[in-house]
Amino acid sequence: MSEADAAARAERLRKEIEHHSYLYFVQDAPEISDAAFDSLMRELRELEAAFPGLVDPASPTQRVGGFVGDQFAPVTHSHRMYSLDNAMDLGELDVWIDRLKAAFGAMVPVVCELKIDGSSLALTYADGLLVQAATRGDGTTGEDVTANIRTIKDVPLRLRDEAAAAPAAGPVSVEVRGEAYMPKQSFEALNAAARAEDRAPFANPRNAAAGSLRQKDPAVTAGRDLSTFIYAIADEATLAVSGQWELLAWLRSAGFHVNPDVARCETAEEVHSFCEQALAKRDELPYEIDGVVVKVDSFASQASMGHTARAPRWAIAYKFPPEEKTTRLLDITVQVGRTGACTPVAELDPVVVAGSTVARATLHNLDEVRRKDLRIGDTVIVRKAGDVIPEVLGPVLRLRPDGAASWQMPRDCPSCSSPIVREEGEVAFRCVSIDCPAQSLERLMHWASRGALDIEGMGEEIVGRLIKAGHLRDVADYYLLDEGVLASLDMGRVNVKGEPIRLGETMAKKLVAAIEASKGRPFARVLFGLGIRHVGKTMAEQIAAHCPSIELLEQRALTCPVLVFLDRYSVDELEQKTRDWLGTTSRDPLLVSSPLRPAFEPWTEIEGVSVAIVKSIRAFFRASDNRAVIGRLRSAGLTLEAGPEAAEGRDMRLAGLTFVLTGSLVQSGMTRTEAGEALKARGAKVSGSVSAKTSYVVAGEAAGSKYDKAVSLGVPVLSEADFLAILETGQAPSR
Ligand code: AMP
Repeated sequence: MSEADAAARAERLRKEIEHHSYLYFVQDAPEISDAAFDSLMRELRELEAAFPGLVDPASPTQRVGGFVGDQFAPVTHSHRMYSLDNAMDLGELDVWIDRLKAAFGAMVPVVCELKIDGSSLALTYADGLLVQAATRGDGTTGEDVTANIRTIKDVPLRLRDEAAAAPAAGPVSVEVRGEAYMPKQSFEALNAAARAEDRAPFANPRNAAAGSLRQKDPAVTAGRDLSTFIYAIADEATLAVSGQWELLAWLRSAGFHVNPDVARCETAEEVHSFCEQALAKRDELPYEIDGVVVKVDSFASQASMGHTARAPRWAIAYKFPPEEKTTRLLDITVQVGRTGACTPVAELDPVVVAGSTVARATLHNLDEVRRKDLRIGDTVIVRKAGDVIPEVLGPVLRLRPDGAASWQMPRDCPSCSSPIVREEGEVAFRCVSIDCPAQSLERLMHWASRGALDIEGMGEEIVGRLIKAGHLRDVADYYLLDEGVLASLDMGRVNVKGEPIRLGETMAKKLVAAIEASKGRPFARVLFGLGIRHVGKTMAEQIAAHCPSIELLEQRALTCPVLVFLDRYSVDELEQKTRDWLGTTSRDPLLVSSPLRPAFEPWTEIEGVSVAIVKSIRAFFRASDNRAVIGRLRSAGLTLEAGPEAAEGRDMRLAGLTFVLTGSLVQSGMTRTEAGEALKARGAKVSGSVSAKTSYVVAGEAAGSKYDKAVSLGVPVLSEADFLAILETGQAPSR
């Protein structure tokens, strides 16, 4: 990048950052997340570091964030309210720990606390009574929000007598500090109400907390369900406590709400493990946290380290990997799925988000691209939370390059060049060619995938080569492959001698065995593998349970008594007509309460089945090609009916029990999905949330709020060892 380009980009970034700072601090209404804001700030900081000529004292990089409004009386803090230095990963945390070791000659005890994502608060008590509450403001001057804070139920208006002992008998005068926050659930409820009344929702719980604290009318604050966690004191000399750990105990005894998730650690490993556990339970906590604060325990040691201009040297905030970043949208390509649906895909300048590199993200459909107004060349915000699939949230409009044009769906399929069409009433564009190689590849891969027929080793490259060589056209062709064909398959590459590389005998043997094994997969998996539109894994299981053979399914689909409706009307039209003709308000699945419902017997038995699904199953069996494939699958020996394992013979020893899993199963190393599958395979139900109906909660390491809920509801909690024993014996302990 030239210096001139860098200067132009830096100028645009500064304007953008200033705009967002204003929205954040003054309006309490940010448009973008903190992580996206940080990402822009980081880009500016990197530019200024690479081109020192660009450094400008007025740049937002030179300022400590903060704002003092004029709505409330100013409060000059008796002791400055500092910010915290950040460690962006465990490596940076170790650098800070090394600094501690260097300063003290060895590791000193530290206290680890969750970093509550709320709004900082200073509470002053005179002779045991709350006299003033202030926001952090710019660190030196805050705002007087006493009247509002008095409405928060967990803020003691009078300190408890038990706390009066330190340092001398009698009521204490003390200034404590902490965080006001809004629980996630209250935040959701507040925003739902705002939307219902057409008011702008808050961007996140922190802004909701800050906004609620800065209300003119304390009655509004009172209605906002705020809570606090208190963790600090302005002047250590006020009390006879010698360190942070003791202070937390004192705060508890004085009646403050102190976060229970704290640890006193003596080694770097203990600190790491606290951070990892905090990250693991983050989503399950009822309030937002954005990291862990590590503080030197002893106040004397803290004093010897002192402060920089903005933060104490004796503490560090380990920040969780950001779940949002900004990056460039390099291109939008089109991916053709197994039903021909053409999905736009964002090709991104690779960026690390929440610990993994994101280079591509689905944009779902053209409407979505339009709605988000994404254009090639845009700086976009990318989000990836935990294990969730990455998502492009939208462009940063002010950074859009001049002349960026809105994106069009190509006219032709990128794989087979046939025209792409959009059927009436559909969101998706489709390549309608039956010979489209991209579609065949997806269909064949789907058949071999883990949730379907699970042909181990049958990956994209091999399937692609088999299609190219003419050995695979439909899923029944898998069962004609033999070792000879597979072993000699040309992999399209050459070895050092210039000879073509072939798949080889070892791999061929393995694949033949895997193909053979797939014949034993249950009927539901075959149904899912066929890739009938709208028939996902769960629906396939439902269908197999109620309609135990492919013949029966075919017969029911082709002779459905309401054929005339299905052939003549789209689902929307049928909905509308049902309402017009019959005066019902029903909405599909299968026109829930309409008098037309009996006409859909016996489909009505299947939970969640809709007219669209019946229509699509019908369309599948009406195509003679599909019936031919099923005939060939039958000859090959695949399971086309629900065998005894789906009925009497099946392991149902845990039937009737509902399990909820929380925390990580470190002993067995199973993921929660695997553990859930293992329970379901024994007839149990697995649910995502704890209720009075839950039979057991399995709590792994770092179990979160589900554990607390189980305890409060009296639901028995099992350890991982109990859980493994249940899998082994198929027997749950008596409740
Ligand atoms: P920052 O907002 O990045 O400047 O981080 C510093 C802020 O983290 C402090 O001003 C506190 O409001 C907040 N914070 C949240 N939890 C804690 C905690 N347990 N200890 C210290 N500060 C905390």
